[in-house]
This record gives sequence, structure tokens and C-alpha cells, in this order.
Amino acid sequence: MKKLKSLLLVGAALLLSATAYAKPNIYILATGGTIAGTGVSSTQTNYHAGGVAIQTLIEAVPAMTEIANITGEQVVNIGSQDMTTDVWLTLANRINELLADPNVDGIVVTHGTDTMEETAYFLNLTVKSNKPVVLTGAMRASTAISADGPLNLYNSVCTAADPASRDKGVLICMNGIILPAHGTVKMNTVDVQTFQAPNSGPLGYLFNSKVYYNDITLKRHTTKSVFDVKGLKELPKVGIVYSYADIDADVMEPYFTGGYKGVVHAGLGNGNYHKNLFPSLLKARENGILVVRSSRVPTGPTTLDNEVDDAAYQFVASYELNPQKARILLMLALTKTDDWQQIQQYFLEY
Ligand code: GLU
Repeated sequence: MKKLKSLLLVGAALLLSATAYAKPNIYILATGGTIAGTGVSSTQTNYHAGGVAIQTLIEAVPAMTEIANITGEQVVNIGSQDMTTDVWLTLANRINELLADPNVDGIVVTHGTDTMEETAYFLNLTVKSNKPVVLTGAMRASTAISADGPLNLYNSVCTAADPASRDKGVLICMNGIILPAHGTVKMNTVDVQTFQAPNSGPLGYLFNSKVYYNDITLKRHTTKSVFDVKGLKELPKVGIVYSYADIDADVMEPYFTGGYKGVVHAGLGNGNYHKNLFPSLLKARENGILVVRSSRVPTGPTTLDNEVDDAAYQFVASYELNPQKARILLMLALTKTDDWQQIQQYFLEY
């Protein structure tokens, strides 16, 4: 009896230490982009985005396997300028399926940088888990001198594997910095330090494989988001109208015939519109099309209670969301309601 007891104790101790040292299980879902791009030479920038398969990317960074058990999955292999809502729905559903499995600890999504901020924000609103989801990519092709993809991928696995990354919403990890999906914008067309969160700042950084957080995002996301895309085949159609001096109202014509449910106005200053455009924005509301005022100005919110009387016209102010992110929230909001006041509330909370 005594022998059995001590055998059981040894067994339990072994199990405990195995669990303590068990590496987390991280899935890398690959979608293409420059990180999977091959160039004509190591010094020329002309290259094809999305040519290298995920297994090759994983094999190029063997140090990742010291951090986590890695499984790669190719979702698509495209330049992210060709991103579609279909791919977003596929990604969100696959991530939700994977993260519901207790054996999966986190996800890294490799992605082109052009629309990374949009995909990250879409997932931020539709992933139903507090486990880490980290997007990464590269500004230099995999064949370039000083390619940034391998370190970005390694750092993203470190981030996804770290329990401190839970409950932070969907993250972008590029060039050693960890940023929130809500506020992150591609700020430079060519530089490796392209992603910044100009209104809110980054959440953390990495150094020597370690993750350091110094902030959190207070916006609603993931497990606190009401938006659910399970079973959805498509999203309501929403477009963006970009404003400029002397704009002609005819830019709004497609909105009245093209099946649009919403329009985001990339407005002037604090979301102001040109007098030429105003009648068309009013007409959109009369036609049941939601109008969200955002701004072409890169920083600062588009607020209520400024030069535009939103309540009088039933317009919605986007606050910190730039036009492309406001479009995503409006599409998801329209899956729930077409009540402009409820949608305004979403823009304040998300
Ligand atoms: N335009 C391509 C894309 O977004 C390459 C840009 C990049 O990944 O940095 O996928």
C-alpha cells in the first residue's frame, strides 16, 4: 500500500513537471504577403507577394520550435491588396474553431502589410477567445538582404506563446513592437518600422525573445464583442467616399444603385463634408443607407458635437477609427441593426 502511494506520488510529480515544461501549441495561419514574397535578387525590391508556402517559412526559423510546438496552415497565398471579406470570414471561423480546442494556445497569422490593419481589426471584433492572436508580416521579401520576415515571425510566436498576451485583443507584432488592432495603422509605404498606433501608442515590445507589456487597450474586443460571424456567408456592402476640395456630388451615385447599406465618409478635418456632397449624404440617409463620418486626417478622433449636427442628420461619428476600420465596424454593426443611435454607441465602445 505504502509502495503504491509513493509510486502515485512520483507519477504525479512527473506529470506536473511535464506540464510545467510543456511547450505551448501555436498555429501559424498563412495568407501570403511580402513575408512569403520572393524577389528577382537580394538587392532589388521588385518581387511577388505570396509565393513561398508556410512550411518553407517555418523551416527558415528553426528557433521557433524552442518556444512552441508549431503547426502551419496555408489559408490563402495572396498579396493583401487582394484581401476579401470571404477570406476574413474563413479566417475568423478557423481561428474560433482552433482556439475552442483546449490544446491550442495561440495563433499567428502571416499577412501582407497593405491591409493587415483591416484584417487585425476584423478579427479583433469577431474572434471569440481570449487566447493570443497575433498578425505579422514583412516589408522586405524573404529573398532580400536583411529580410525582416524571419524575426517578425519568431517574435510573433514568442508573443502568441506568452500567457501575458491573453485578453489583449488581436495584436500586430512587427519590428519588435506589439500593437493593438484597434489603433494600428500602416504609416510608411516602404519602411520596416511602418506600423504605429498614432492615437494610442503600442502595447509592448520584445527584446531577446521576451515580451514586455506596458499598456492595455480599453476598447471592447474578442470575448467582449457582440459581433458573431458564425454561419455568415457575406457582410453588408459598405463603401468609402474620400473627400477633397471642390468634390462633385456624382461620386455618391453608385451608392444609390449598387446595393450599399452604408457609406463611410473620409471627411475633411473633424469629419467635415464639402457643401457639394452634403445633399447626397442626406439623400443616403433618406434611402436608409447608414452614413459614418470619419476623417482623411491621420490622427485624432472624428467627434460628435463639433461642426456637424449628427443628431439632426442621423449621421454617426467614427471617433478614433480611420475610414478603412470604420468600414469594418459599420459592416459588422449592420449585421445587428440599422438603428443609427445603436451604431453610434458601437463606435464609442469598439
Ligand atoms: N502588397 C503586398 C501585400 O500587402 C506586399 C506588401 C507587404 O506585405 O508588405 O501583401
